[in-house]
Amino acid sequence: MQTQIIDGKALANQKRAELKKRVEALVTPPHLHVIWVGNNPSSRIYVHHKELAGASVGIQVTTHHLPETSSQDDLLALIGQLNHSVDADGILVQLPLPKHIDESDVLEAILPSKDVDGLTSFNLGCLLSGRPQMIPCTPQACIELIESVEPDLAGKLAVIVGRSRLVGKPLFQLLLAKHCTVIQTHSKTHNLTDLTQKADILVVATGHPGLIGGADIKPGAIVIDVGISKMPDGHLSGDVKTEDVLGIASAITPVPGGVGPMTVAMLLENVVLAAEHRQNSSEED
Ligand code: NDP
Repeated sequence: MQTQIIDGKALANQKRAELKKRVEALVTPPHLHVIWVGNNPSSRIYVHHKELAGASVGIQVTTHHLPETSSQDDLLALIGQLNHSVDADGILVQLPLPKHIDESDVLEAILPSKDVDGLTSFNLGCLLSGRPQMIPCTPQACIELIESVEPDLAGKLAVIVGRSRLVGKPLFQLLLAKHCTVIQTHSKTHNLTDLTQKADILVVATGHPGLIGGADIKPGAIVIDVGISKMPDGHLSGDVKTEDVLGIASAITPVPGGVGPMTVAMLLENVVLAAEHRQNSSEED
């Protein structure tokens, strides 16, 4: 079987072109505020990508770079200010935060309508209740990538490896909403291979490079590799041994160039959505 490599970059570029048109239709450009605390080198790269990506579709991006020693109160005060600002459509806190700051407390402080990462309890709850508002970016990216090769997901058996708040848990709800039968697995799951071998759609999000190999996959499966880990020699590795599954899977996302670029595109879409809501509600006033 020929395995299709799902080109996340190309799909993300298509999405960006659509978003650029939506931005042009707005009276004022959307404004995303990124809060970055400390000097984590990976965060520096991710923040820079977001600035460039925003600019590419006409979204204004302001980065608030706070020192490592900032207190949780400093951070909450900034979020409070942005929550009230008419010049802030989206607020994103770059993770991880320094250890002395409680990530959950900080994320929960973001106004749900400006929570473009979709990670507040309110937005996750909306997803669970079947009335999604801001959908978390990486899980939505997975759905877009899967649907690019298989538009009809009804009845498919989807297995998710990982149950984080950021990826695995919201993805469960999104796949369920597409009428998949969904199995969620994690580090305490017994006989993981028995489950992954049954999957029509396999999404792996663990951060363990090479966890999944050819023997773990059903012939013809669609494989989405969310994991991204920097190896000692500097190259990036996914959670799936891509070489191993070529010829077995029907399609797979590469690392890099799969889920990553699509995740950024989904973030931009959430910012545009927030700005569209702001404009529509100000027209109604
Ligand atoms: P977390 O560490 O928060 O969660 C990892 C999950 O994997 C946990 O649920 C854990 O189980 C599970 N897990 C760990 N080991 C195993 C195992 N051996 N078998 C089965 N399950 C296991 O990570 P995230 O969800 O935040 O991220 C996962 C990966 O995806 C990382 O590499 C991250 O960098 C990447 N990522 C990539 C993005 C992109 O844009 N490309 C965006 C977001 C994340 P348990 O709950 O039991 O501990």
